[in-house]
Amino acid sequence: MARILVIEDERDLQKVLDFNLREAGHEVLSALRGREGIELALQRGPELIILDLMLPDIPGTEVLRALRRSPRTQGIPILVLTARGEELDRVVGFELGADDYVVKPFSVRELLLRIGAILRRARGEERAGQPPIELGRLRVDREAHRVWVDGKEIVLTALEFKLLVTLCERRGRVQSRAVLLDDVWGVSAEITTRTVDTHVKRLREKLGSAGDYIETVRGVGYRLADAPGEPER
Ligand code: CA
Repeated sequence: MARILVIEDERDLQKVLDFNLREAGHEVLSALRGREGIELALQRGPELIILDLMLPDIPGTEVLRALRRSPRTQGIPILVLTARGEELDRVVGFELGADDYVVKPFSVRELLLRIGAILRRARGEERAGQPPIELGRLRVDREAHRVWVDGKEIVLTALEFKLLVTLCERRGRVQSRAVLLDDVWGVSAEITTRTVDTHVKRLREKLGSAGDYIETVRGVGYRLADAPGEPER
């Protein structure tokens, strides 16, 4: 789950991307023009930018250049959308620092896979050197995005994983629903605190015997308990 900025002037494509990215658990920011995109990137600090090279106001390559120039945006991974035959733009895009590209028309599934790979790469670097969290029956590898309970791997969605890591990293401390919404989902108007409850419920079910590590603090939120008898790291 990440905050993703989509800079694309085709409204239909914007809609499709918006829907599918949200469906995949991401927060989406949309810009129909290049300059608006640069502004949004500076203001909102997305974790990934999807950039169409053919924009009505300024060329996508110009946007790319501007994003790479600013210290506030130069580290953000950028996935470029290019039309078939725009070979030159593609080469130029890489020279300017795009992280990956997808040729139109593309399948949404392919795009989502690419996005997943870019985010994993970016987060891997960010979390490099962080040891796995070992907590009773639970083992969480933040670098590899993998979770085990009693040595058996559990498959979590990106959002559930982020929720679990957030709780683990702050274990022993109560996290209010509002804080979790802000840090895990990145608050968005249509999301309610109910969403937190729903996801925690699902996460507990998936964790099985380790599910009760997540304690409900009535009227406040949730807390991941230190496992009984487990020394603090
Ligand atoms: Ca376009």
